[in-house]
Amino acid sequence: MHNKTLSEISSGLRNGDFSSEEITRHFLNRINQLDPQFNSFIAVTEEQAIQQARQADKMISAGETQALLGVPFAHKDIFCTEGVLTTSGSKMLENFISPYDSTVAANLKRAGAVNLGKTNMDEFAMGSSNETSFFGPVKNPWDVTRVPGGSSGGSAAAVAARLAPAATATDTGGSIRQPASLCGVTGLKPTYGRISRWGMIAFASSLDQAGPITQTAEDAALMLNSMAGFDPKDSTSVDQPVPDYRANLNDSLKGLTIGLPKEYFASGLDPKLENIIQEAISEYQRLGATVKEVSLPNSSLSVPVYYVIAPAECSTNLSRFDGVRYGYRCAEPINLEDMYTRTRSEGFGDEVKRRILIGTYVLSSGFYDAYYIQAQKTRRLIQQDFVNAFEQVDVLMAPTSPSPAFKFDEKTADPLTMYLEDIYTIGVNLAGLPGISIPAGQLDGLPVGLQIIGNYFSESKLLNVAHQYQQVTGWHKAQPID
Ligand code: GLN
Repeated sequence: MHNKTLSEISSGLRNGDFSSEEITRHFLNRINQLDPQFNSFIAVTEEQAIQQARQADKMISAGETQALLGVPFAHKDIFCTEGVLTTSGSKMLENFISPYDSTVAANLKRAGAVNLGKTNMDEFAMGSSNETSFFGPVKNPWDVTRVPGGSSGGSAAAVAARLAPAATATDTGGSIRQPASLCGVTGLKPTYGRISRWGMIAFASSLDQAGPITQTAEDAALMLNSMAGFDPKDSTSVDQPVPDYRANLNDSLKGLTIGLPKEYFASGLDPKLENIIQEAISEYQRLGATVKEVSLPNSSLSVPVYYVIAPAECSTNLSRFDGVRYGYRCAEPINLEDMYTRTRSEGFGDEVKRRILIGTYVLSSGFYDAYYIQAQKTRRLIQQDFVNAFEQVDVLMAPTSPSPAFKFDEKTADPLTMYLEDIYTIGVNLAGLPGISIPAGQLDGLPVGLQIIGNYFSESKLLNVAHQYQQVTGWHKAQPID
């Protein structure tokens, strides 16, 4: 039962092949049995899930047909979920029970989807390997000596190991696409503003965007249908109608123009990885697409620009964790300053502290112009490169990450090597564009993802392009365990 896609579960429920309670219990059992080896869940919401499933079964018997009604999934632990532990992977929120639902959680609840639990993640979504989680790293189901990617490593590992048919995730610099690539699943980062950020614990507000991690593009469309939409509670949410993202999945790709950014295929890209990406592109040519080289001349500035802007925004966003309002508070403070200092010193992990320090520095009055303003100006140039590229092509294709899953501790000693994990994904966040990673091959038995980048609000096109590939290839079906 766990090998079914979300779409297959959805139709199975409506055909009466099984009940929501049955399939929900099946996944809960699987999580209980298998997750101790992967650590992909921080909390399993068994009781609530069974309740939601029973409610869904009643509604299905009454003839309701919403696509996600009764379908189980998991939430990245960055989404506030009413009455449920919401930690953002941090000691700071180790015991935080959210009093309200994020808009994404509310939307999926309204759609009748059944939440199995909350998935593990890098602390406050800062990381590319899940090693910064207070709750311990997630292990990659393809090889438990390797990282699952991050920060949404719990969501990606859970879907790869079929502990959940789909999961929510967030992407600030690559955190949906990179773990999807390393775990061999499909991960969609929509256009900035497509999904409400309300109740999604903020890392870098001008970059954060929610999206689904699933087995297939078709399932991502199904999730996006419920996750997307205008929300007056998020001033950056865009007031645009939500189309049925499944409507164009079967469109032909004849005449599609694929742009290959030459900077992404330059020296430094592992030739074996490049071969896999080129093979995927040849598959697209067989489907009727043509290929054109394009240039993103400022792309080498993406990582440095991101590591000014993201820390700047996180340093202000994380100032709310001060021991006063909610979350961790140090024991027996002697005065207010002692409480602030020790609460934050004890509550945050090293990577989070590093970012707060960098952010505070680049925003300080002496350095604001030299770093923050300069980074904002360069961000505009990076965005303009993409705008120019999309005048010539329909989508861009590139690797998602520079290597398959790496070993634990391989990159922790040097933060800069870790930051380079997102070299192919970060530009998309800086520009606010949508991107998807789909499994496109394997290197030494480990999954490799192909990244497809689209123009603003072209999610339907991206899903169509990804789906067509999944109709003629089987990489998305490869599983690490039965
Ligand atoms: N790996 C990047 C970082 O550490 C991106 C993380 C993310 O997208 N949340 O900031």
